[in-house]
Amino acid sequence: MTTGHEEEHPVKAFGWAARDTSGILSPFNFSRRATEDEDVRFKVLYCGICHSDLHSAKNDWGISMYPLVPGHEIVGEVTEVGRKVKKVKVGDKVGVGCMVGSCDSCQGCNNDLENYCPQMIFTYSSIYHDGTVTYGGYSDTMVANERFIVRFPENMPLDAGAPLLCAGITVYSPLKYFGFGEPGKHIGVVGLGGLGHVAVKFAKALGAKVTVISTSASKKDEALEHLGADSFVVSRDPEQLQAAKSTMDGILDTVSAVHPILPLIDLLKPHGTLVMLGAPERPLELPVFPLLMGRKMVAGSCIGGMKETQEMIDFAAKHDIAADIEVVSMEYVNEAMERLAKGDVRYRFVIDIGNTLAATKP
Ligand SMILES: [Zn+2]
Ligand SMILES: [Zn+2]
Repeated sequence: MTTGHEEEHPVKAFGWAARDTSGILSPFNFSRRATEDEDVRFKVLYCGICHSDLHSAKNDWGISMYPLVPGHEIVGEVTEVGRKVKKVKVGDKVGVGCMVGSCDSCQGCNNDLENYCPQMIFTYSSIYHDGTVTYGGYSDTMVANERFIVRFPENMPLDAGAPLLCAGITVYSPLKYFGFGEPGKHIGVVGLGGLGHVAVKFAKALGAKVTVISTSASKKDEALEHLGADSFVVSRDPEQLQAAKSTMDGILDTVSAVHPILPLIDLLKPHGTLVMLGAPERPLELPVFPLLMGRKMVAGSCIGGMKETQEMIDFAAKHDIAADIEVVSMEYVNEAMERLAKGDVRYRFVIDIGNTLAATKP
């Protein structure tokens, strides 16, 4: 017997989906639309496991639609293009990140900021223009309008490059927009996870001095020796915080758990900006007085537009930036999710879809 998901579109697809708030993923037959004039279809080879996948699979944000196929760090090889497609051709390596659609007519869309379009369509668990639910990259095939396709440079590894499509652009865009990524600037990076570790690499490549701010002193060697940060502050150590007070032009805060931001505001120079990139499930306390005394700002930022995403991946390829990854099989995904929930990964899981998904077909 077939289900609605298998019949709503003409192209058969297979992936892994969460069915309820347990978040547990299992094999799932569904379908994807035919290749339209501006569409690019590709065989998925790798897909990163983003923290958002975990939150969405468990409906932590209350907006998930089941069955839910996660994955928005999707890389693969083009198998078919619509007749109006100019960007890529069959055989090219491409990627899709967090979004697959937008209104195409608002101020955001007209200024290469589709990510701030009020009608932006997420890569999974979102309603597409045709009224059907979108499915992500934990699947064998993907189709997207060419506007939302990223060309993968020749020398960018497909597996380690995949996480850049979400984690990479999430840190690159604010580094550029807030002017942090400039020689002479001193930038703090809070949290050394999937986002934080690439933030250090991009900020260094852009010429900034980088300090990693972390609750755990055990990450110091890793931050300095391996990732190339210039210094390290343990955020629970009052002496270290005092020593670094008023020294930073900007801070990228990648932590998605509820945490105090006063110590971070104190690290900023006057006119400095604290940019929030994580999404804590409860509001944070905002200490106003220290903002006034120094004209400081607390801001937010969400991924980046498609033009900037292409710029980011080209920049990364030029500067040998990629994520540090652990490649896993499709079968391992539930275990990987459990480990991710505990922070037990350095620094991103990437699923080897191309070599391991087909074997899980029932
Ligand atoms: Zn993500
Ligand atoms: Zn728009």
